[in-house]
Amino acid sequence: MIDLRSDTITRPTEEMRKAAYEAEVGDDVYGEDPTVRRLEEKAAEMLGKEAALFVTSGTQGNQIAVLTHCRPGNEILLEADSHIFYYESGAVAALAGVQTRTIKGENGAMNPDDVLAAIRAEDQHFPETGLICIENTHNRAGGAIVPVSNMRDIYQHAQSHHIPVHVDGARLFNAAAAANCSIQEFTQYCDTVQICLSKGLGAPVGSILAGSEEFIKRARKWRKRLGGGLRQVGIIAAPGLVALTKMTERLSEDHENARFLAEALGEVDGLIITNSVDTNIVVLEVCGLGCSADKFVAALKEKGVLAVTFGPTQVRLTTHYDVSRAELEKAVEAIIEVREEIKK
Ligand SMILES: *Cc1c(COP(=O)(O)O)cnc(C)c1O
Repeated sequence: MIDLRSDTITRPTEEMRKAAYEAEVGDDVYGEDPTVRRLEEKAAEMLGKEAALFVTSGTQGNQIAVLTHCRPGNEILLEADSHIFYYESGAVAALAGVQTRTIKGENGAMNPDDVLAAIRAEDQHFPETGLICIENTHNRAGGAIVPVSNMRDIYQHAQSHHIPVHVDGARLFNAAAAANCSIQEFTQYCDTVQICLSKGLGAPVGSILAGSEEFIKRARKWRKRLGGGLRQVGIIAAPGLVALTKMTERLSEDHENARFLAEALGEVDGLIITNSVDTNIVVLEVCGLGCSADKFVAALKEKGVLAVTFGPTQVRLTTHYDVSRAELEKAVEAIIEVREEIKK
Protein backbone atom coordinates (compact mmCIF):
# COMPACT_ATOMS: atom_id res chain seq x y z
CA MET A 1 0.00 0.00 0.00
CA ILE A 2 1.18 3.52 -0.82
CA ASP A 3 -0.23 5.47 2.09
CA LEU A 4 -0.92 9.14 1.34
CA ARG A 5 -3.68 9.54 3.94
CA SER A 6 -1.61 11.61 6.33
CA ASP A 7 1.89 12.39 7.57
CA THR A 8 0.74 10.94 10.92
CA ILE A 9 1.22 7.43 9.53
CA THR A 10 5.03 7.82 9.48
CA ARG A 11 6.70 5.14 11.54
CA PRO A 12 9.59 5.86 13.90
CA THR A 13 13.04 5.69 12.30
CA GLU A 14 15.75 3.24 13.43
CA GLU A 15 17.40 6.09 15.31
CA MET A 16 14.14 6.87 17.14
CA ARG A 17 13.63 3.24 18.12
CA LYS A 18 17.19 3.04 19.40
CA ALA A 19 16.78 6.31 21.29
CA ALA A 20 13.62 4.94 22.94
CA TYR A 21 15.45 1.76 23.94
CA GLU A 22 18.38 3.61 25.42
CA ALA A 23 16.45 6.49 27.01
CA GLU A 24 17.37 7.51 30.52
CA VAL A 25 14.08 7.73 32.41
CA GLY A 26 12.52 8.75 35.71
CA ASP A 27 9.09 9.74 37.02
CA ASP A 28 8.20 12.86 35.04
CA VAL A 29 5.36 13.87 37.37
CA TYR A 30 8.11 14.28 39.98
CA GLY A 31 10.10 16.20 37.34
CA GLU A 32 12.68 13.40 37.35
CA ASP A 33 12.75 12.23 33.75
CA PRO A 34 15.99 13.62 32.29
CA THR A 35 15.02 12.78 28.71
CA VAL A 36 11.72 14.65 28.73
CA ARG A 37 13.47 17.57 30.40
CA ARG A 38 16.01 17.65 27.58
CA LEU A 39 13.22 17.51 25.01
CA GLU A 40 11.33 20.35 26.68
CA GLU A 41 14.45 22.50 26.99
CA LYS A 42 15.46 21.88 23.39
CA ALA A 43 11.94 22.61 22.12
CA ALA A 44 11.72 25.86 24.09
CA GLU A 45 15.10 26.94 22.71
CA MET A 46 14.18 26.10 19.10
CA LEU A 47 10.79 27.81 19.36
CA GLY A 48 12.21 30.90 21.05
CA LYS A 49 10.06 30.55 24.17
CA GLU A 50 10.99 30.39 27.85
CA ALA A 51 9.56 26.95 28.50
CA ALA A 52 7.87 23.97 26.89
CA LEU A 53 5.69 21.05 27.88
CA PHE A 54 5.58 17.58 26.32
CA VAL A 55 1.96 16.58 25.75
CA THR A 56 0.36 13.44 24.38
CA SER A 57 -1.11 14.89 21.19
CA GLY A 58 -1.68 18.03 19.18
CA THR A 59 -5.28 18.12 20.33
CA GLN A 60 -4.20 17.91 23.97
CA GLY A 61 -1.67 20.71 23.42
CA ASN A 62 -4.27 22.98 21.83
CA GLN A 63 -6.85 22.20 24.51
CA ILE A 64 -4.40 22.85 27.32
CA ALA A 65 -3.58 26.18 25.65
CA VAL A 66 -7.26 27.20 25.53
CA LEU A 67 -7.83 25.99 29.12
CA THR A 68 -4.80 27.88 30.39
CA HIS A 69 -5.42 31.13 28.53
CA CYS A 70 -9.20 31.35 29.01
CA ARG A 71 -11.96 31.22 31.57
CA PRO A 72 -15.43 29.72 31.02
CA GLY A 73 -17.65 32.22 29.23
CA ASN A 74 -14.80 33.70 27.20
CA GLU A 75 -14.97 33.89 23.44
CA ILE A 76 -12.09 32.72 21.27
CA LEU A 77 -11.41 33.93 17.74
CA LEU A 78 -10.27 31.37 15.22
CA GLU A 79 -10.35 30.62 11.52
CA ALA A 80 -13.60 29.07 10.28
CA ASP A 81 -11.92 25.90 9.02
CA SER A 82 -9.32 25.61 11.75
CA HIS A 83 -8.51 22.27 13.35
CA ILE A 84 -9.48 23.50 16.83
CA PHE A 85 -12.94 24.39 15.52
CA TYR A 86 -13.43 21.68 12.92
CA TYR A 87 -11.64 18.56 14.15
CA GLU A 88 -11.37 18.56 17.95
CA SER A 89 -14.80 17.13 18.79
CA GLY A 90 -16.08 20.39 20.26
CA ALA A 91 -13.50 20.14 23.04
CA VAL A 92 -13.18 23.90 23.60
CA ALA A 93 -16.89 23.94 24.51
CA ALA A 94 -16.87 20.64 26.38
CA LEU A 95 -13.69 21.30 28.39
CA ALA A 96 -12.86 25.01 28.52
CA GLY A 97 -16.47 26.27 28.40
CA VAL A 98 -15.63 28.94 25.86
CA GLN A 99 -17.62 29.95 22.83
CA THR A 100 -16.07 30.21 19.41
CA ARG A 101 -16.27 33.07 16.98
CA THR A 102 -15.02 31.94 13.61
CA ILE A 103 -13.51 34.19 10.97
CA LYS A 104 -13.36 33.04 7.37
CA GLY A 105 -9.81 33.33 6.13
CA GLU A 106 -8.22 33.33 2.73
CA ASN A 107 -5.89 30.40 2.22
CA GLY A 108 -6.10 29.81 5.96
CA ALA A 109 -5.06 33.36 6.85
CA MET A 110 -7.57 35.56 8.68
CA ASN A 111 -7.63 39.19 7.61
CA PRO A 112 -6.15 41.15 10.56
CA ASP A 113 -8.89 43.81 10.13
CA ASP A 114 -11.55 41.11 10.57
CA VAL A 115 -9.80 39.89 13.71
CA LEU A 116 -9.62 43.42 15.08
CA ALA A 117 -13.29 44.00 14.33
CA ALA A 118 -14.23 40.78 16.16
CA ILE A 119 -12.46 41.70 19.40
CA ARG A 120 -15.15 42.46 21.96
CA ALA A 121 -15.54 45.83 23.59
CA GLU A 122 -16.05 46.16 27.33
CA ASP A 123 -19.80 45.72 27.86
CA GLN A 124 -21.74 43.62 30.34
CA HIS A 125 -23.63 41.99 27.45
CA PHE A 126 -20.50 40.69 25.78
CA PRO A 127 -18.23 37.75 26.44
CA GLU A 128 -14.59 38.69 26.86
CA THR A 129 -12.31 37.81 23.98
CA GLY A 130 -10.00 35.37 25.73
CA LEU A 131 -7.75 34.13 22.95
CA ILE A 132 -6.95 34.39 19.26
CA CYS A 133 -5.84 31.19 17.51
CA ILE A 134 -3.88 31.02 14.27
CA GLU A 135 -3.27 27.72 12.45
CA ASN A 136 -0.01 27.41 10.51
CA THR A 137 0.29 25.59 8.20
CA HIS A 138 -3.43 25.48 7.70
CA ASN A 139 -4.64 21.92 7.21
CA ARG A 140 -8.01 22.48 5.57
CA ALA A 141 -6.49 25.17 3.37
CA GLY A 142 -4.29 22.35 2.03
CA GLY A 143 -1.18 22.96 4.12
CA ALA A 144 -1.12 26.66 3.21
CA ILE A 145 1.48 28.83 4.91
CA VAL A 146 0.05 31.73 6.90
CA PRO A 147 2.56 34.50 6.12
CA VAL A 148 4.75 35.94 8.88
CA SER A 149 3.42 39.42 8.04
CA ASN A 150 -0.16 38.23 8.64
CA MET A 151 0.80 36.77 12.01
CA ARG A 152 2.64 39.98 12.90
CA ASP A 153 -0.39 42.17 12.13
CA ILE A 154 -2.78 39.96 14.10
CA TYR A 155 -0.34 39.82 17.01
CA GLN A 156 -0.08 43.62 17.08
CA HIS A 157 -3.87 43.96 17.28
CA ALA A 158 -3.98 41.29 19.98
CA GLN A 159 -1.26 42.92 22.04
CA SER A 160 -2.89 46.32 21.89
CA HIS A 161 -6.01 44.69 23.41
CA HIS A 162 -4.06 42.47 25.87
CA ILE A 163 -5.37 39.28 24.26
CA PRO A 164 -3.04 36.28 23.98
CA VAL A 165 -2.34 34.56 20.65
CA HIS A 166 -1.94 30.79 20.35
CA VAL A 167 -0.57 29.15 17.22
CA ASP A 168 -1.74 25.67 16.31
CA GLY A 169 1.55 24.88 14.65
CA ALA A 170 0.99 21.16 14.18
CA ARG A 171 2.95 21.62 10.94
CA LEU A 172 4.74 24.91 11.67
CA PHE A 173 8.12 23.29 10.89
CA ASN A 174 6.73 22.63 7.40
CA ALA A 175 5.98 26.33 7.06
CA ALA A 176 9.50 27.26 8.15
CA ALA A 177 11.11 24.73 5.80
CA ALA A 178 9.00 25.88 2.84
CA ALA A 179 9.52 29.58 3.58
CA ASN A 180 13.22 28.81 4.07
CA CYS A 181 13.39 30.67 7.37
CA SER A 182 13.80 29.95 11.06
CA ILE A 183 10.66 28.77 12.86
CA GLN A 184 11.22 31.71 15.22
CA GLU A 185 10.27 34.10 12.40
CA PHE A 186 6.75 32.77 13.00
CA THR A 187 6.81 32.11 16.74
CA GLN A 188 7.96 35.65 17.59
CA TYR A 189 4.38 36.68 16.81
CA CYS A 190 2.55 34.48 19.29
CA ASP A 191 2.43 33.87 23.03
CA THR A 192 2.09 30.10 22.83
CA VAL A 193 2.56 27.47 20.16
CA GLN A 194 1.75 23.79 19.73
CA ILE A 195 3.97 21.63 17.51
CA CYS A 196 3.27 18.01 16.49
CA LEU A 197 6.26 15.68 16.71
CA SER A 198 4.22 12.83 15.29
CA LYS A 199 3.37 14.16 11.83
CA GLY A 200 6.03 14.96 9.24
CA LEU A 201 8.71 14.82 11.94
CA GLY A 202 7.98 11.11 12.36
CA ALA A 203 7.94 10.58 16.13
CA PRO A 204 5.57 7.83 17.28
CA VAL A 205 3.68 10.10 19.67
CA GLY A 206 3.62 13.53 21.22
CA SER A 207 3.42 17.26 20.80
CA ILE A 208 5.09 20.28 22.34
CA LEU A 209 3.32 23.26 23.89
CA ALA A 210 5.64 26.24 24.39
CA GLY A 211 5.23 29.65 26.02
CA SER A 212 6.37 31.69 29.01
CA GLU A 213 7.59 30.01 32.25
CA GLU A 214 4.50 31.23 34.02
CA PHE A 215 2.17 29.92 31.32
CA ILE A 216 3.82 26.51 31.16
CA LYS A 217 3.62 26.15 34.94
CA ARG A 218 -0.16 26.58 34.76
CA ALA A 219 -0.38 24.45 31.60
CA ARG A 220 1.40 21.61 33.43
CA LYS A 221 -1.40 21.61 35.98
CA TRP A 222 -4.03 21.42 33.25
CA ARG A 223 -2.14 18.52 31.68
CA LYS A 224 -2.28 16.73 35.04
CA ARG A 225 -6.01 17.44 35.35
CA LEU A 226 -6.57 15.93 31.94
CA GLY A 227 -4.69 12.78 32.89
CA GLY A 228 -1.69 13.73 30.80
CA GLY A 229 0.88 13.53 33.60
CA LEU A 230 2.99 10.59 32.49
CA ARG A 231 5.67 8.67 34.33
CA GLN A 232 8.77 7.16 32.63
CA VAL A 233 7.92 9.20 29.59
CA GLY A 234 11.52 9.47 28.37
CA ILE A 235 10.75 6.31 26.39
CA ILE A 236 8.59 8.41 24.07
CA ALA A 237 10.33 11.73 24.58
CA ALA A 238 13.59 10.27 23.23
CA PRO A 239 12.19 9.65 19.73
CA GLY A 240 10.57 13.09 19.99
CA LEU A 241 14.01 14.60 20.54
CA VAL A 242 15.27 12.84 17.41
CA ALA A 243 12.23 14.20 15.53
CA LEU A 244 12.98 17.73 16.66
CA THR A 245 16.71 17.71 16.03
CA LYS A 246 17.09 15.44 13.00
CA MET A 247 13.87 15.53 11.01
CA THR A 248 13.03 19.19 10.42
CA GLU A 249 15.68 19.69 7.73
CA ARG A 250 14.30 17.02 5.43
CA LEU A 251 10.72 18.35 5.31
CA SER A 252 11.50 20.16 2.05
CA GLU A 253 11.76 16.74 0.38
CA ASP A 254 8.10 16.18 1.26
CA HIS A 255 7.28 19.55 -0.25
CA GLU A 256 9.14 18.74 -3.47
CA ASN A 257 7.25 15.46 -3.61
CA ALA A 258 3.93 17.23 -3.16
CA ARG A 259 4.80 19.59 -6.01
CA PHE A 260 5.74 16.59 -8.16
CA LEU A 261 2.31 15.05 -7.45
CA ALA A 262 0.51 18.31 -8.13
CA GLU A 263 2.32 18.87 -11.41
CA ALA A 264 1.69 15.33 -12.64
CA LEU A 265 -1.98 15.32 -11.60
CA GLY A 266 -2.67 18.89 -12.68
CA GLU A 267 -2.27 17.78 -16.28
CA VAL A 268 -4.85 15.01 -15.99
CA ASP A 269 -8.16 15.86 -17.62
CA GLY A 270 -11.03 16.02 -15.10
CA LEU A 271 -8.80 16.53 -12.06
CA ILE A 272 -8.13 19.93 -10.52
CA ILE A 273 -5.63 20.78 -7.81
CA THR A 274 -7.46 23.27 -5.62
CA ASN A 275 -4.75 24.27 -3.14
CA SER A 276 -1.56 26.24 -3.56
CA VAL A 277 0.63 23.23 -2.56
CA ASP A 278 2.83 25.35 -0.30
CA THR A 279 3.95 22.34 1.72
CA ASN A 280 3.20 18.59 1.87
CA ILE A 281 -0.53 18.49 1.07
CA VAL A 282 -2.25 18.19 -2.31
CA VAL A 283 -6.02 18.64 -2.57
CA LEU A 284 -7.66 17.06 -5.61
CA GLU A 285 -11.09 18.11 -6.83
CA VAL A 286 -12.73 15.12 -8.55
CA CYS A 287 -16.18 16.55 -9.38
CA GLY A 288 -15.04 16.84 -13.03
CA LEU A 289 -15.24 13.04 -13.14
CA GLY A 290 -18.83 13.14 -11.95
CA CYS A 291 -18.02 11.03 -8.88
CA SER A 292 -17.87 11.50 -5.14
CA ALA A 293 -14.67 11.65 -3.13
CA ASP A 294 -15.78 8.45 -1.35
CA LYS A 295 -16.03 6.55 -4.61
CA PHE A 296 -12.71 7.92 -5.85
CA VAL A 297 -10.90 7.01 -2.63
CA ALA A 298 -12.42 3.49 -2.63
CA ALA A 299 -11.36 2.91 -6.26
CA LEU A 300 -7.87 4.18 -5.46
CA LYS A 301 -7.58 1.76 -2.55
CA GLU A 302 -8.23 -1.12 -4.97
CA LYS A 303 -5.09 0.01 -6.80
CA GLY A 304 -3.01 0.05 -3.62
CA VAL A 305 -3.08 3.79 -2.91
CA LEU A 306 -4.61 5.24 0.25
CA ALA A 307 -5.97 8.79 0.40
CA VAL A 308 -8.64 10.55 2.50
CA THR A 309 -11.79 12.43 1.53
CA PHE A 310 -11.59 16.13 2.27
CA GLY A 311 -15.08 17.21 1.28
CA PRO A 312 -17.90 15.74 -0.87
CA THR A 313 -15.75 15.78 -4.01
CA GLN A 314 -12.31 16.58 -2.59
CA VAL A 315 -9.50 14.16 -1.87
CA ARG A 316 -6.41 14.91 0.20
CA LEU A 317 -2.99 13.43 -0.56
CA THR A 318 -0.19 14.02 1.94
CA THR A 319 3.49 13.35 1.35
CA HIS A 320 5.89 12.24 4.08
CA TYR A 321 9.20 10.44 4.57
CA ASP A 322 7.65 6.96 4.45
CA VAL A 323 6.73 7.39 0.77
CA SER A 324 9.40 7.60 -1.95
CA ARG A 325 9.39 9.38 -5.29
CA ALA A 326 9.14 5.98 -7.04
CA GLU A 327 6.01 5.20 -5.01
CA LEU A 328 4.56 8.58 -5.89
CA GLU A 329 5.11 7.83 -9.57
CA LYS A 330 3.12 4.63 -9.05
CA ALA A 331 0.44 6.58 -7.21
CA VAL A 332 0.10 8.95 -10.17
CA GLU A 333 -0.33 5.96 -12.52
CA ALA A 334 -2.98 4.50 -10.20
CA ILE A 335 -4.87 7.81 -10.08
CA ILE A 336 -4.82 8.04 -13.88
CA GLU A 337 -6.16 4.47 -14.13
CA VAL A 338 -8.94 5.24 -11.65
CA ARG A 339 -9.87 8.31 -13.63
CA GLU A 340 -10.09 6.22 -16.79
CA GLU A 341 -12.29 3.58 -15.14
CA ILE A 342 -14.64 6.19 -13.68
CA LYS A 343 -14.86 8.05 -17.00
CA LYS A 344 -16.01 4.86 -18.80
C1 LIG B 1 -3.11 16.96 13.38
C2 LIG B 1 -3.44 18.31 13.79
C3 LIG B 1 -3.75 18.60 15.12
C4 LIG B 1 -3.96 17.55 16.18
O1 LIG B 1 -2.95 16.65 16.39
P1 LIG B 1 -3.25 15.22 17.05
O2 LIG B 1 -1.89 14.83 17.52
O3 LIG B 1 -3.78 14.38 15.94
O4 LIG B 1 -4.23 15.41 18.14
C5 LIG B 1 -4.00 19.92 15.46
N1 LIG B 1 -3.94 20.89 14.54
C6 LIG B 1 -3.65 20.65 13.25
C7 LIG B 1 -3.59 21.78 12.29
C8 LIG B 1 -3.41 19.35 12.83
O5 LIG B 1 -3.14 19.12 11.54
